[in-house]
Amino acid sequence: MEKIRMTTPLVEMDGDEMTRILWQMIKDKLILPFVDLKTEYYDLGLLHRNETRDQVTVDAANATKKYGVAVKCATITPNKQRMEEYPQLTEMWKSPNGTIRSILDGTVFRCPICIDAIQPVVKNWKKPITIARHAYGDVYKSVDFHTEEPGECTMTFKGVSGEEHTVCVQKVDGPAVWQGAHNKDKSIRSFARACFQYAIDTRQDLWFSTKDTIAKVYDGNFKRIFEEEFEDYKAKFEELGLTYFYTLIDDAVARVIRSEGGYIWACKNYDGDVMSDMVSTAFGSLAMMTSVLVSPDGTTEYEAAHGTVTKHYYKYLKGEKTSTNPMATIFAWSGALKKRGELDGIAALTAFGEKLEEACFDTLNAGIMTRDLVGLVEEGFTARAVTSEEFLDAVAQRLREKLA
Ligand code: NAP
Ligand code: MG
Repeated sequence: MEKIRMTTPLVEMDGDEMTRILWQMIKDKLILPFVDLKTEYYDLGLLHRNETRDQVTVDAANATKKYGVAVKCATITPNKQRMEEYPQLTEMWKSPNGTIRSILDGTVFRCPICIDAIQPVVKNWKKPITIARHAYGDVYKSVDFHTEEPGECTMTFKGVSGEEHTVCVQKVDGPAVWQGAHNKDKSIRSFARACFQYAIDTRQDLWFSTKDTIAKVYDGNFKRIFEEEFEDYKAKFEELGLTYFYTLIDDAVARVIRSEGGYIWACKNYDGDVMSDMVSTAFGSLAMMTSVLVSPDGTTEYEAAHGTVTKHYYKYLKGEKTSTNPMATIFAWSGALKKRGELDGIAALTAFGEKLEEACFDTLNAGIMTRDLVGLVEEGFTARAVTSEEFLDAVAQRLREKLA
């Protein structure tokens, strides 16, 4: 069989631990036999990030801007424990995802991969719910401190023009905690545009929620900017029969639980952090959650939502064959290849990505699964646990049949 040709390279960001092992297996078994793979390779493995003083992460993000599509393996974000585990580290390097997100100024869209054998905990959910998480500011870029004595806290903004604006945060009669947070209109605007564009691309309604009845100016600013930006997308939404719906976060939570699913729920940074774990758990498993970072100019980076699955890696190092679920990582590859095919007008590459996903579904529907999923299967379905390698072989066999 002739391999599918590519014209533009995909930016490939390799990563750490068990997902790095899966990464190579996925390439060897599911991609390289069928695609004349063209990638610009960046090794974001922790030790290589250390050797390059994290320059490799910045280079990979810039390459993504240049070529438009990237696929990323999960990576270790070092903490104190990792500094002990890897004594050669010269610094506690920042989260690569954080670095890439701030360079691409993107919004993260997370969507569960659903199969019939695993039903959501929420009975009425029939279709996947995609969480769109704003990836800049609020509590994640805030400052905070604790004070002991009675007193008053004020907040001052000093403009470059010399103009100042001060408000009293609160007067207190004893020990207290304080926090100062911000967001930028520019970032909120990008967030809004990425959400509207993604809704159009995936043909789904868009919901957006904040708490603007309480944070009248702060959350009110999010609401206003979304309304302003929607003007540019309104006609397209109407043409496609899509709706943009704004509501308060507590009302949204109630409606989401009662809904059938099948829409995008845009959330502020912290809300998105919390709600994406709620949604992914209710749909079944973090190992079945895809994640794509979309920047306002349409640049996309595909990854899995889970981490490097450290515990499985330690077993692998001891020579054990693990049953780590590669689904989300495979879907990162299929998503990136489909997008590359679309942008370059290579129908065969897009079709390959689709067939790869179908082969995964066929394998799961045949009851061949990794261990994490077997325990979630509903009564009336049969499933047997296989190793990652066996699962990938089963997918490869089905993929070959589809491509023949
Ligand atoms: P994790 O790697 O997502 O794993 C947490 C647990 O979830 C695993 O121990 C496993 O449970 C289960 N799990 C996750 N993915 C799975 C899969 N594909 N197949 C089967 N089970 C899966 O999170 P973590 O252990 O908190 O973090 C490990 C490392 O990943 C950290 O160094 C962190 O910095 C990094 N991380 C990276 C990213 C990213 O690059 N996007 C995201 C999050 C975390 P059992 O052990 O019970 O089987
Ligand atoms: Mg989180």
